[in-house]
Amino acid sequence: MSLVDSHCHLDSPEFDPDREAVIERALEAGVEQMVAIGTGTGPPDLEAGIRLADKYPPFYATVGIHPHDAAKAAPADLERLTGLLQHPKVIAVGEIGLDYHYDFSPRDVQHSIFIEQMAIAAAAKKPIVIHTREAWEDTLALIEQYWKPNGLSGIMHCFSGGPLEAQRALDLGFYLSFGGIVTFPKAVEVHSAARQAPRDRILVETDAPYLAPVPKRGKRNEPALMIHTARRLAGLRGEPYDDLCRATTENFRRLLLN
Ligand SMILES: [Zn+2]
Ligand SMILES: [Zn+2]
Repeated sequence: MSLVDSHCHLDSPEFDPDREAVIERALEAGVEQMVAIGTGTGPPDLEAGIRLADKYPPFYATVGIHPHDAAKAAPADLERLTGLLQHPKVIAVGEIGLDYHYDFSPRDVQHSIFIEQMAIAAAAKKPIVIHTREAWEDTLALIEQYWKPNGLSGIMHCFSGGPLEAQRALDLGFYLSFGGIVTFPKAVEVHSAARQAPRDRILVETDAPYLAPVPKRGKRNEPALMIHTARRLAGLRGEPYDDLCRATTENFRRLLLN
């Protein structure tokens, strides 16, 4: 069965010792394509994802400035994003959004960098990959105001909300991407959202090296481990594993490759 990891950080130094073995294991596990999220260590480097996509055929890439790095972004970095979106393997802008858990950048700066990147993505007609942590209300409000009118779609990466947040994201035309959290026994709200989400609006991801699924929880995550997440998601939804794989791969292609 083939799967797509719609969100991973294989540029992370944690993969420096064995990156090619990690990619090999992914392919052996059936993870045929991976999206290298391009946020890296933040501006001025915007090419962390592109470097992987240029080197390894199974990768697509995103470009974007993470909310953690919003305070590091200069006007020239935002200008460069537009050019990088022309790269043939860059399929989305992300991960962008708001993170009030760490507040590494001031909230007003997070807001303005998020809004500016939505405008850049809209001009290029590319979907956006959203990171939101302890910031659902503001994230959804900004998407509603600045993104929804253009009719384009996006991804709620590593979906961590419950049925209410899921419904609001779905109403905005977004896809829900489920990661390792869905395998955690106490994540009952996420489980409810996973059961209720329409089949044509779900994706799977690792967010590797973070958030490894059970039974590898707490270890370094990698794309090959996504089979545990996909199995759990299929189980929650009462769907055959093969159907879940097929649906999420089709969803990925419909949203990101056309
Ligand atoms: Zn994230
Ligand atoms: Zn991420």
